Amino acid sequence: MRGSKLERYEKLVEQIRRCTKCRLHATRKNPVPGEGSLEAEVMFVGEAPGRREDELGRPFVGMAGNLLTALLREIGLSREEVYITNIVKCRPPGNRDPRDDEIAACLPYLIEQIKIIGPKILVTLGRHAGRTIYGLAGLKWPGMSKAHGAAVRATVAGVSLTIFSTYHPAAALYNKGLRTVLQEDFRRLKSLLSGEGRGRTLFDYF
Ligand code: SF4
Repeated sequence: MRGSKLERYEKLVEQIRRCTKCRLHATRKNPVPGEGSLEAEVMFVGEAPGRREDELGRPFVGMAGNLLTALLREIGLSREEVYITNIVKCRPPGNRDPRDDEIAACLPYLIEQIKIIGPKILVTLGRHAGRTIYGLAGLKWPGMSKAHGAAVRATVAGVSLTIFSTYHPAAALYNKGLRTVLQEDFRRLKSLLSGEGRGRTLFDYF
């Protein structure tokens, strides 16, 4: 593998900034590559940038982002310690769902991010991220209600890691019940992390 981690990452970010591989480039204000630590053990993958993210070129900075930051804080993590990105790097107009061909066009960037960062835990936020990451791992997506809170060992982009799935914070903004589920899932994520620290297997908790 040639070049330092930072050099590879900067090259990738530059490619994303110039990308015109799918129709989303025509309506974006700013592409949103992702941000956080390149040494992160935990990488979060959401769906797509929203309005605020598109304006600022940063992931999860709107209301859903505030909730994600709060959920991280509740389990003792800061945004700087993790890496946060999305399945597609440009905003779908009107916040519509990303289309399959847009996801396919953008996926090589996510694969390269996973290779560069090499996280131990890949957290999927929402069904699009879950379905896509399970697909990359060669696994059948069981649906959000079954997948959430579950940890699955897998190989994604050549990296041996654990996939942990939960709901997208945007879905919980106006749904208190779902917010409670998200909080429970994040507590499981914390157990997963601290379990590793004590040398226990990841699945002692599930
Ligand atoms: S969404 Fe991805 S593939 Fe489409 S233009 Fe943006 S960076 Fe390129």
